Formats: sequence, structure tokens, C-alpha cells
Amino acid sequence: MKREKKGKAVVVGGSIGGVSCAHALVAAGWEVLVLEKSAAPPTGSPTGAGLGLDPLAQRLIDSWVGATHLLRDATVPLTIDLNQATDGEKKVSWTLTRDENFNFRAAHWADLHSLLYNALPPSIFLWGHLFLSLCTSGENAGIKIKAKVLQTNETVEIAGDLLVAADGCLSSIRKIFLPDLKLRYSGYCAWRGVLDFSDNENSEIITGLQKAYPDLGKCLYFDLGYRTHVVLYELPNKRMNWIWYVGQPEPQIQEGYRDEFKNNWITTLMLYLHTVVLSNLN
Ligand SMILES: Cc1cc2nc3c(=O)[nH]c(=O)nc-3n(C[C@H](O)[C@H](O)[C@H](O)COP(=O)(O)OP(=O)(O)OC[C@H]3O[C@@H](n4cnc5c(N)ncnc54)[C@H](O)[C@@H]3O)c2cc1C
Repeated sequence: MKREKKGKAVVVGGSIGGVSCAHALVAAGWEVLVLEKSAAPPTGSPTGAGLGLDPLAQRLIDSWVGATHLLRDATVPLTIDLNQATDGEKKVSWTLTRDENFNFRAAHWADLHSLLYNALPPSIFLWGHLFLSLCTSGENAGIKIKAKVLQTNETVEIAGDLLVAADGCLSSIRKIFLPDLKLRYSGYCAWRGVLDFSDNENSEIITGLQKAYPDLGKCLYFDLGYRTHVVLYELPNKRMNWIWYVGQPEPQIQEGYRDEFKNNWITTLMLYLHTVVLSNLN
């Protein structure tokens, strides 16, 4: 892309969306500033999420980080996409679709974030800055935002020509522009996590999973059950990404009960995975 100076873009949010926008904007010739409320860049987390990258995402990331081997080294190829159904009562599974030319790659959130973050100049990031408000002063006059520096409680003003809201699904910037927008419940809850099994490769649950899902390591599994489905795929360095979707009425979660709710569901998830593994083995 032609590098003409376009103006100054302020990106709010320094997660995967924010750092990706920063790359795209830098490549298009913008001066970029990223504001993130977290105190410091993530240093790699054992938990988190797996991300499946399609060929276009892989090409974009390669162009942003400037070398193809970096993404390749940080991900595993997913060459198969398999959709199967499991009948838990009858304890049978059958294949619905199997695509052997999938061409995705699987990354761990923290690995992908650090790859993207390390390919940007650190000086464009303002960590520990909480976006507070925004004002525009007339057409084409740019934007001014207020942010709180969390360490000092001081409020600073930042001017720019373009504002990018990469502040997540509960975006406070979206609330400014679309105050009446209500998020719509999708009909299911999803739980996800990454299981690091580098220390217990031969445990019953891991060997059971590998028997039930023999192409783990190169396959993205969608296992559909009654009102539920599970997504499983392996990540680099002996980590298993799992997501469990449960079709259910919208839960009313009060703030204080969040952790208790989470712990109960995680116990149920382990039981469910165990059941899926056992039903596939039988
Ligand atoms: C259960 C579940 C499973 C999922 N599984 C997958 C999956 O397998 N693959 C996939 O691709 N996606 C998945 N997603 C979706 C994925 O997590 C999100 O789409 C992705 O994290 C969004 O990234 P983001 O950068 O837009 O937002 P976020 O990761 O939410 O980042 C928003 C950032 O903005 C910062 N921020 C927020 N408010 C402010 C503020 N006022 N001032 C400054 N900073 C602020 C936050 O600290 C945060 O760093 C899943 C989501 C859920 C809930």
C-alpha cells in the first residue's frame, strides 16, 4: 500500500483487534496511537483462547510482521475441518462433513498477540490509559478524547483525526454512538479454555481425547450433541483449545455470583468432555 501520511488515528483497546487495526493503519500511512487500560502488555498467559486463522488472516499477519516464518513457527497447521455428531444416549458418533483442504492455522491468543505487538513500535502504545469520553468539534475538525492515566488518576486529552473503537464487545465508544443498542442474546452460553497438557501427556483424559478425536494435532473438530456442541483443536506446545457451547435461556448473572457460576460450569464441562470421550470410545 502507498505510504502517504493520512493523519493521526487513535485506537482504543490494545487486544487482538486493536493491534491488528494498528498494523493496518500503519501500513496505510496513518500515525497511530493505541490506548489500553491494562497496565502493561500481556506477557503470555497459560490460559486464554485458541484462534483459528484463515488463509487471508495468515497473509495479512505475514505482511504486517514482515516474515512468513514467524507466524508459521507460532502456530500449528489445521489441515482438516471435521463436523461430527454425537448421540450421548446411544453412545455413537458419525461424521457429517470432512474437509481435507482446510488450510487454517491455530494460534494461542497470547502468542498471536505478542507476535503482532512486537512488530509495532512500543512508543505508539499508552498502557494504563482508560478511555473516558470523546468530543468532536465540527465537520472534518477531528476528535478529542479524554483518558484517565490509571497510575496517577490524572486525566489527559488526546487529539486525532480518526478514532477506532477496538474496546471489545462491551465497547464504551459504541455506547456513545449507539446509546440505545441492546446486545442480543445468541441463545447459547460458551465456555472456553486452553488445557496445557505438557506435564501430563499420558493422563487418562488426554489419551482418551486422542483416541476419541484421532486427528487432533491437525484437525478442527466440531462435535454436535443435543442442544450443545464442542470445538476442539490442538495448539502449539502441547496445549488443547476447547470451547463448549450450551443452548440455554439467557442466564441472569449477578456480579457477586460470577465466579461461583463459572466454577460450577467448569466442573460440568469436565464431566461432559469425559462423557463425550467415553461415548466415542465405546
Ligand atoms: C466463550 C468465547 C469463545 C470465543 N472463541 C473464539 C474463538 O475460538 N476464536 C475467535 O476468533 N474468537 C473467539 N471469541 C471471540 C473473541 O474472544 C473476541 O472476538 C476477541 O477477543 C475480540 O477481540 P477484541 O480485540 O475486539 O476485543 P477484546 O479482546 O475484548 O479487547 C478489548 C480491549 O479493549 C480494552 N478496553 C476496554 N475498554 C477500554 C477503555 N475504556 N479504555 C481503554 N481500553 C479499554 C480491554 O482492556 C481489552 O484489552 C470467543 C469469545 C467468547 C466469549
